[in-house]
Amino acid sequence: MKVRVDPDKCQGHTLCAMEAPGAFELSEFDGHSTARFETVPADLEQAVRDAAKTCPEQAIVVTD
Ligand code: SF4
Repeated sequence: MKVRVDPDKCQGHTLCAMEAPGAFELSEFDGHSTARFETVPADLEQAVRDAAKTCPEQAIVVTD
């Protein structure tokens, strides 16, 4: 499973980092999120899926 954050959609709500703190990194500058890794470790897959559902901008792109 792979994940990335679309920088054009991300508005820095930070919800993804609350939902999956190990998976996303927030910019100190503008709060925008990036995925910490392209391929998601198995133990974080559910949290990343939950974060993708939580993101109000639908900026988190998950592919299997
Ligand atoms: S929840 Fe969505 S919009 Fe907010 S920081 Fe995370 S990816 Fe960006």
